[in-house]
Amino acid sequence: MSDLDQLYQQVIMDHSRMRHGEGVLAEFDGESFQVNPTCGDEATVRVRISHTREGSPVVEELAWQGQGCSISQASLSIMHDMTVGLTVTEVEHLGEEFREMMHSRGRFPEDRLDPLEDAAAFLGASKLSARVKCALLGWMALRGAVAEALTTDRKDSK
Ligand code: ZN
Repeated sequence: MSDLDQLYQQVIMDHSRMRHGEGVLAEFDGESFQVNPTCGDEATVRVRISHTREGSPVVEELAWQGQGCSISQASLSIMHDMTVGLTVTEVEHLGEEFREMMHSRGRFPEDRLDPLEDAAAFLGASKLSARVKCALLGWMALRGAVAEALTTDRKDSK
């Protein structure tokens, strides 16, 4: 195993234990529950959305609950750290980059790994087709939660 692979493995192990953002938001705008049946992973993501002065939606708070393999749980923890405080547009862009990386079978351009921060640690997992869905589960739940929040937003606001 290369030094980089070892570093990446350590990041995943650390996050699967620390589980940043794990918990429940009592007040939230959107929620999504996702299951990865091939591995048995589960994730529920809740978000609270605020708006910038220009009116762009921002992921103000994110909390998740989950169970499953260390890849799925670490991915939720890392996703929390990366996305809270960003606009929905920025979150969608990161999510797309992460999805592309996970479908790259380990061949993702280095200059696009940097913006993915700790999520780049899953590059090794992208070579293992059975693990791809584990890493993407949390991001699917986030996309669902944001979509629900924005729909509700349009219904309720003003
Ligand atoms: Zn899994």
